[in-house]
Amino acid sequence: MTNDEKSALWIKDPVAILADGADRGIVVQGGRIVELVAAGRSPATPEVKAFDAGQHVVLPGLINTHHHFYQTLTRAVPAALDRELFPWLQALYPIWARLTPEALDLGMTLAMAELVLSGCTMTTDHHYVFPAGLEDGIDIEVAAAKRLGLRVLLTRGSMNLSQRDGGLPPDSVVQDEDTILADSERVVARYHDAGEGAMIQIALAPCSPFSVTTSLMRSTADLAKRLNVRMHTHLAETEDENRFCQELYKCRPLDYLEDCGWLNDRVWLAHGIHFDADEIKRLARAGITISHCPCSNQTLASGTCPVCAMEDAGVRVGIGVDGSASNDASNLMQEVRAAFLLQRSRYGVTKVSHLDALRWATKGSAACVGRTDIGEIVLGAMADLALFKLDELRFSGSGDPLAALVLCGAHRADRVMIGGRWAVENGQISGRDVGDLISRHSAAARKLQAGS
Ligand SMILES: [Zn+2]
Repeated sequence: MTNDEKSALWIKDPVAILADGADRGIVVQGGRIVELVAAGRSPATPEVKAFDAGQHVVLPGLINTHHHFYQTLTRAVPAALDRELFPWLQALYPIWARLTPEALDLGMTLAMAELVLSGCTMTTDHHYVFPAGLEDGIDIEVAAAKRLGLRVLLTRGSMNLSQRDGGLPPDSVVQDEDTILADSERVVARYHDAGEGAMIQIALAPCSPFSVTTSLMRSTADLAKRLNVRMHTHLAETEDENRFCQELYKCRPLDYLEDCGWLNDRVWLAHGIHFDADEIKRLARAGITISHCPCSNQTLASGTCPVCAMEDAGVRVGIGVDGSASNDASNLMQEVRAAFLLQRSRYGVTKVSHLDALRWATKGSAACVGRTDIGEIVLGAMADLALFKLDELRFSGSGDPLAALVLCGAHRADRVMIGGRWAVENGQISGRDVGDLISRHSAAARKLQAGS
């Protein structure tokens, strides 16, 4: 069934819904949630059509706070297997340097298709590889996001510290500071929507403080303030990074961030594993949020983000799948389960529940991307919803439907609504041939990895 945005649609009588006072479902209209229907009530909204959600568990749309879409082209690359972060990067940079516009478009489209099918309604992407010929990487990405109808916060990433200057990446994938800043300003002016309900937003995102110069870190912070956009980078991912920072800057990564003008509430950081207790307090005071990426952190054996210690200190935490070369999947619902398992093993059964994990990927992630209009099923919020069926072998016999999603391992949404429009119906992306996408994407990946 399709729906136009103007008419009112009652998502009727779900098996369960992650919302208060909405036992009989919700009414969406004009891209928003306009009514919560309590037990024993019927909608007050006039001329409402009904969608029978009698087989569905309804969640707020999941929000992905960290990814590198292009990396879907380099999953399980033999040369990068079983390596820690720095040597892993060094194995992959030469392949990424060969990216073409066609491959990039396919890599990004495939990542977003994978995400939306897992129940994701909004995603960020951290794109920082701009080899010659890919100067319009963000333009390619905006076009791909619009085609799929996904809500996005795309970051104009950057690297300007190459091997020539003591950095990690090869010279061929970095740009100079002026080029980076000019393109950052261009893409913000062209694409960033600061309003409520925005579908496309832009943030600025040096790859990490160790692949850009101090000057670029500072000028990025100044530009983000002037343009009023968010900022993102990787931080405190590995112990290697702490040593690198001590050697290069004679301080710890968070001190360096502060020195660069980055300790403020525009910032969300990927990983945040190796902060001490005092640093966590400083993050809370500054209003910095953290993207927890449990699968990537386990794959690269980087350590475990202290999510509960952060939340106890007042730091908001969201969930990210991270790039497909270190996860290697872009399935956000599976990431919720991974976060639940990892954090529960760290903090115990009374401290972490399935509801905490779902909250991190919705409300927590919304804080990371600086949005108050998504991440919860409440009156007036955008109608971004993920609907799961419990009709697979793995759910058979389950009791609590919301717990079953996390504990039994839900991995594929049956329906996904973004801004009142169905983006996924009956487990299929509306108007998209996934088989064709897989065959074109895998051919592009083979070609890229072979270097021909
Ligand atoms: Zn990352």
